[in-house]
Amino acid sequence: MTVAVVLFTADLRLHDHPPMRAALAAADEVVPLFVRDRAITEAGFGAPNRLAFLADCLRDLDAGLRERGGRLVIRSGDVVEEVGRIVSETGAGDVHVAAGVSAYARRREERLRAALESGGRRLHVHDGVVTAVAPGAVTPAASDHFAVFTPYFRHWSTERIRDAFGAPRSVPVPDGPGSEPVPLRPDVSGVSPGLAEGGERQARTRLTAWRRHGITAYEDGHDDLAGDATSRLSPHLHFGTLSPVELVHRARSAGGTGADAFVRQLCWREFHHQVLAARPAVSHEDYRTRHDRWRSEADAAEEIEAWRQGRTGYPVVDAALRQLRHEGWMHNRGRLLAAGFLTKTLYVDWRIGAQHFLDLLVDGDVANNQLNWQWMAGTGTDSRPNRVLNPVTQARRYDPDGSYVRRWVPELAGVSGPAVHEPWKLRGPESDRPDYPAPIVELSDGLARFRRARGLD
Ligand code: FAD
Repeated sequence: MTVAVVLFTADLRLHDHPPMRAALAAADEVVPLFVRDRAITEAGFGAPNRLAFLADCLRDLDAGLRERGGRLVIRSGDVVEEVGRIVSETGAGDVHVAAGVSAYARRREERLRAALESGGRRLHVHDGVVTAVAPGAVTPAASDHFAVFTPYFRHWSTERIRDAFGAPRSVPVPDGPGSEPVPLRPDVSGVSPGLAEGGERQARTRLTAWRRHGITAYEDGHDDLAGDATSRLSPHLHFGTLSPVELVHRARSAGGTGADAFVRQLCWREFHHQVLAARPAVSHEDYRTRHDRWRSEADAAEEIEAWRQGRTGYPVVDAALRQLRHEGWMHNRGRLLAAGFLTKTLYVDWRIGAQHFLDLLVDGDVANNQLNWQWMAGTGTDSRPNRVLNPVTQARRYDPDGSYVRRWVPELAGVSGPAVHEPWKLRGPESDRPDYPAPIVELSDGLARFRRARGLD
């Protein structure tokens, strides 16, 4: 009997899963293993919303494996030590894992390879699992990554992406290795009340519905804050309950301008992954320094806290931040406005905002979060680093009738017309005005401070 281990990381699915397919093709039995990695939790990356979503994903993965005659083996601790234990308990000769992108994932791979090879075992690292096109597969002539999205997108679009395949019919798992119980969502405290449900089944249901009813209108609707007309597939891509390869193929086959626009957004995810893979330090350092002397927590404690709580006095910014707290997710246009306000209007260090997002986002990941924050801060890949989004004009454009604001800022639920985006303009007796904070900063003052700091005036 030959045994192989499949180590699940950010790929919690059975459909279109190259490590599982390769393991099943080469061995008689497979140990599907997930290690609750102590290093990730201790690094503060185990935010409640993601832990709760992860619990759903693991339960669903275990159920899927059981339907196929197998089960999931869950352990806690150091990944390399736990894999070593499973390998010696089962006599497995091969370990299969998806290629990772972050510095941490790369180190994990190196440590695993060294430990396994020293014991005469082999590590197989599979591309095309976490991204459709592997970071580094397309590069410009003189660099190890693309620094500008448009040429990356052009090259990425012509790259051949392997075909997607289905879930295995059966997964024979040896009797031996014991497992910790599958974690349950209610075991996690501090979870956002409106958090979506995780798991591959949810992902596939959402994908089918999106392809049938959502994708066609994506191009026109994706910026409409109240319309909520984006796919909401980001947590599934983050946890890998959906394959990016399958998603690209299924979106392309839907055809039309909506599908084209959607595939372009999927490519943004891949773009950020290839930047992070080539420049791991951008998780905490500027990709392109603008020599900012950002305001820190000590310089702007009250304003930062007002921002975190969604009490800046700018309704659309506050609505977005409250959506984040309630759902563990935020509309992309809301993310842009919340991040732009913190970095450009309050001139606060992007790392402070990125951390707040990572504390709450169910899809929070280093590549997309840090690099989108850097984009908004003007320290990233944006070719117009000094652009400033005005939250009032943006609100009028992307929430024209104020429904998004009224949904998330109940103090303004009774305000109609354009005043919903500028409540400070409301007239009448004090007692009739909504109990909503005055703006914590004048936009013109914020803009002037930013322009001075960047040496633009
Ligand atoms: P859709 O509009 O349906 O797009 C489909 C998919 O394309 C998304 O699921 C996502 O995987 C990808 N995508 C779309 N826009 C972007 C983008 N700008 N950058 C990278 N990928 C994109 N996305 C995350 O997945 N994790 C994060 O931690 C994250 N943090 C962000 C922080 C800031 C400040 C900003 C401005 C954006 C951030 N994004 C992040 C990108 C984007 O906002 C989300 O991916 C998107 O809102 C998720 O919703 P959706 O699945 O409905 O997206």
